[in-house]
Amino acid sequence: MAATVKIANRPAGWKRQSYLWGAMQGMGVTLRHFLRNWPRNLLGRRADSDIATLAYPEEKRRYPPRNRGLHRLMKRADGQVRCVACMMCPTACPAHCISIVPEESEDPRIEKRPRIFQIDELRCVVCGLCVEACPCDAIRMDTGIHAWPTTRRADAILDKEELLSRGEISTAVQGGAGFSWRERK
Ligand code: SF4
Ligand code: SF4
Repeated sequence: MAATVKIANRPAGWKRQSYLWGAMQGMGVTLRHFLRNWPRNLLGRRADSDIATLAYPEEKRRYPPRNRGLHRLMKRADGQVRCVACMMCPTACPAHCISIVPEESEDPRIEKRPRIFQIDELRCVVCGLCVEACPCDAIRMDTGIHAWPTTRRADAILDKEELLSRGEISTAVQGGAGFSWRERK
Protein backbone atom coordinates (compact mmCIF):
# COMPACT_ATOMS: atom_id res chain seq x y z
CA MET A 1 0.00 0.00 0.00
CA ALA A 2 1.40 3.34 -1.00
CA ALA A 3 2.01 5.73 1.86
CA THR A 4 -0.04 8.90 1.77
CA VAL A 5 1.90 12.07 2.28
CA LYS A 6 0.27 15.16 3.65
CA ILE A 7 1.99 18.30 2.49
CA ALA A 8 1.86 21.13 4.99
CA ASN A 9 1.85 24.58 3.46
CA ARG A 10 4.42 27.03 4.72
CA PRO A 11 2.85 29.67 6.98
CA ALA A 12 1.94 32.80 5.12
CA GLY A 13 2.53 36.37 6.30
CA TRP A 14 5.46 37.91 8.15
CA LYS A 15 3.86 37.37 11.56
CA ARG A 16 3.86 33.60 11.18
CA GLN A 17 7.13 33.34 9.31
CA SER A 18 9.25 35.45 11.64
CA TYR A 19 7.94 33.89 14.93
CA LEU A 20 8.43 37.37 16.38
CA TRP A 21 4.70 37.93 16.84
CA GLY A 22 4.31 34.56 18.60
CA ALA A 23 7.23 35.32 20.90
CA MET A 24 5.73 38.72 21.76
CA GLN A 25 2.38 37.11 22.51
CA GLY A 26 4.10 34.64 24.87
CA MET A 27 5.93 37.46 26.65
CA GLY A 28 2.61 39.28 26.96
CA VAL A 29 1.09 36.32 28.83
CA THR A 30 4.11 36.19 31.16
CA LEU A 31 3.86 39.96 31.78
CA ARG A 32 0.12 39.73 32.48
CA HIS A 33 0.64 37.01 35.13
CA PHE A 34 3.54 38.95 36.64
CA LEU A 35 1.58 42.19 36.96
CA ARG A 36 -1.45 40.40 38.38
CA ASN A 37 0.40 38.34 41.01
CA TRP A 38 3.27 40.61 41.96
CA PRO A 39 1.24 43.13 44.05
CA ARG A 40 -0.64 40.27 45.72
CA ASN A 41 2.66 38.63 46.55
CA LEU A 42 4.01 41.85 48.05
CA LEU A 43 0.95 42.13 50.27
CA GLY A 44 1.44 38.57 51.46
CA ARG A 45 -1.78 37.32 49.94
CA ARG A 46 -0.39 34.29 48.16
CA ALA A 47 -3.59 32.38 48.82
CA ASP A 48 -5.41 34.79 46.51
CA SER A 49 -2.84 34.54 43.72
CA ASP A 50 -2.77 31.90 41.03
CA ILE A 51 0.98 31.31 41.24
CA ALA A 52 1.60 27.63 40.67
CA THR A 53 4.92 27.48 42.51
CA LEU A 54 5.62 27.47 46.25
CA ALA A 55 8.54 29.02 48.15
CA TYR A 56 9.60 25.60 49.49
CA PRO A 57 10.65 24.77 52.22
CA GLU A 58 9.10 27.80 53.95
CA GLU A 59 5.79 26.97 52.27
CA LYS A 60 4.62 23.40 51.94
CA ARG A 61 1.77 22.05 49.88
CA ARG A 62 -0.93 20.34 51.90
CA TYR A 63 -1.20 16.68 51.05
CA PRO A 64 -4.61 15.12 50.40
CA PRO A 65 -6.22 13.18 53.27
CA ARG A 66 -5.49 9.83 51.59
CA ASN A 67 -1.75 10.48 51.61
CA ARG A 68 -0.05 7.55 53.33
CA GLY A 69 3.46 8.66 54.27
CA LEU A 70 6.49 6.80 55.56
CA HIS A 71 6.15 3.27 56.92
CA ARG A 72 6.29 2.36 60.58
CA LEU A 73 6.50 -0.91 62.49
CA MET A 74 4.01 -1.43 65.28
CA LYS A 75 4.79 -2.82 68.75
CA ARG A 76 3.20 -5.33 71.11
CA ALA A 77 1.96 -4.30 74.54
CA ASP A 78 5.38 -5.24 75.99
CA GLY A 79 7.19 -3.06 73.44
CA GLN A 80 8.41 -5.90 71.20
CA VAL A 81 8.01 -5.60 67.44
CA ARG A 82 4.71 -7.09 66.26
CA CYS A 83 6.26 -8.42 63.06
CA VAL A 84 6.64 -12.20 63.04
CA ALA A 85 8.80 -12.26 59.88
CA CYS A 86 6.15 -14.15 57.95
CA MET A 87 7.45 -12.70 54.65
CA MET A 88 3.98 -11.77 53.40
CA CYS A 89 4.87 -8.11 52.82
CA PRO A 90 8.07 -8.67 50.79
CA THR A 91 6.15 -11.25 48.77
CA ALA A 92 3.33 -8.80 48.03
CA CYS A 93 5.63 -5.82 47.37
CA PRO A 94 5.72 -5.12 43.62
CA ALA A 95 8.88 -3.02 43.93
CA HIS A 96 10.85 -5.66 45.89
CA CYS A 97 11.99 -3.00 48.30
CA ILE A 98 11.42 -4.83 51.61
CA SER A 99 14.27 -6.94 52.98
CA ILE A 100 13.75 -9.10 56.06
CA VAL A 101 16.18 -11.42 57.81
CA PRO A 102 14.30 -13.45 60.45
CA GLU A 103 15.58 -14.86 63.71
CA GLU A 104 14.13 -17.06 66.44
CA SER A 105 12.22 -15.24 69.13
CA GLU A 106 13.08 -15.68 72.80
CA ASP A 107 9.36 -15.55 73.54
CA PRO A 108 8.05 -19.16 73.36
CA ARG A 109 4.66 -17.86 72.09
CA ILE A 110 6.28 -16.28 69.03
CA GLU A 111 8.09 -18.37 66.45
CA LYS A 112 10.05 -15.67 64.62
CA ARG A 113 10.80 -11.99 64.59
CA PRO A 114 12.82 -9.82 62.19
CA ARG A 115 16.52 -9.43 62.99
CA ILE A 116 16.83 -7.09 60.01
CA PHE A 117 13.88 -5.23 58.50
CA GLN A 118 14.68 -2.72 55.78
CA ILE A 119 12.59 -0.72 53.34
CA ASP A 120 14.17 1.12 50.44
CA GLU A 121 12.03 4.25 50.20
CA LEU A 122 13.56 5.19 46.84
CA ARG A 123 12.17 2.03 45.27
CA CYS A 124 8.84 2.06 47.12
CA VAL A 125 5.90 2.99 44.92
CA VAL A 126 3.67 3.78 47.95
CA CYS A 127 1.06 1.24 46.88
CA GLY A 128 0.22 0.07 50.41
CA LEU A 129 0.16 -3.61 49.47
CA CYS A 130 2.57 -4.45 52.30
CA VAL A 131 0.07 -3.06 54.80
CA GLU A 132 -2.77 -5.00 53.18
CA ALA A 133 -0.74 -8.22 53.20
CA CYS A 134 0.30 -8.08 56.85
CA PRO A 135 -1.80 -10.51 58.91
CA CYS A 136 -0.99 -8.95 62.28
CA ASP A 137 -1.08 -5.15 61.96
CA ALA A 138 2.70 -5.00 62.19
CA ILE A 139 3.32 -2.47 59.44
CA ARG A 140 1.40 0.73 58.74
CA MET A 141 1.66 3.65 56.32
CA ASP A 142 -0.27 6.31 58.18
CA THR A 143 2.41 8.73 59.33
CA GLY A 144 1.74 11.34 56.64
CA ILE A 145 5.50 12.03 56.63
CA HIS A 146 7.01 12.55 53.18
CA ALA A 147 10.25 10.70 52.45
CA TRP A 148 13.01 13.22 53.05
CA PRO A 149 15.42 14.35 50.35
CA THR A 150 18.87 12.87 50.48
CA THR A 151 22.12 12.95 48.55
CA ARG A 152 23.15 9.45 49.67
CA ARG A 153 21.19 6.43 48.51
CA ALA A 154 21.88 4.59 51.78
CA ASP A 155 19.99 7.30 53.71
CA ALA A 156 16.76 6.32 51.92
CA ILE A 157 16.90 2.77 53.30
CA LEU A 158 14.94 2.68 56.55
CA ASP A 159 16.03 0.06 59.07
CA LYS A 160 14.10 -1.66 61.85
CA GLU A 161 15.06 0.87 64.53
CA GLU A 162 14.00 3.78 62.32
CA LEU A 163 10.70 2.08 61.46
CA LEU A 164 10.06 1.23 65.11
CA SER A 165 10.81 4.79 66.23
CA ARG A 166 7.47 5.86 64.71
CA GLY A 167 5.66 2.74 65.89
CA GLU A 168 3.07 2.66 68.63
CA ILE A 169 1.53 -0.16 70.60
CA SER A 170 -1.12 -2.05 68.66
CA THR A 171 -3.37 -4.47 70.49
CA ALA A 172 -5.06 -5.77 67.34
CA VAL A 173 -5.83 -9.47 67.63
CA GLN A 174 -5.18 -11.74 64.67
CA GLY A 175 -8.50 -13.07 63.38
CA GLY A 176 -10.45 -10.35 65.19
CA ALA A 177 -11.08 -9.42 68.82
CA GLY A 178 -11.80 -12.34 71.13
CA PHE A 179 -10.36 -14.89 68.69
CA SER A 180 -8.55 -17.73 70.42
CA TRP A 181 -7.08 -20.93 68.99
CA ARG A 182 -7.74 -22.63 72.35
CA GLU A 183 -11.48 -22.01 72.00
CA ARG A 184 -11.42 -23.63 68.59
CA LYS A 185 -9.85 -26.89 69.85
S1 SF4 B 1 4.03 0.50 49.76
FE1 SF4 B 1 4.09 -0.97 48.04
S2 SF4 B 1 6.06 -0.63 47.11
FE2 SF4 B 1 6.16 0.35 49.10
S3 SF4 B 1 7.04 -1.19 50.47
FE3 SF4 B 1 4.81 -1.43 50.58
S4 SF4 B 1 4.29 -2.97 49.04
FE4 SF4 B 1 6.37 -2.25 48.59
S1 SF4 C 1 5.38 -6.78 58.60
FE1 SF4 C 1 3.60 -8.16 58.66
S2 SF4 C 1 3.56 -9.10 56.62
FE2 SF4 C 1 5.59 -8.19 56.86
S3 SF4 C 1 6.85 -9.89 57.61
FE3 SF4 C 1 6.13 -8.72 59.40
S4 SF4 C 1 4.27 -9.81 60.04
FE4 SF4 C 1 4.72 -10.48 57.95
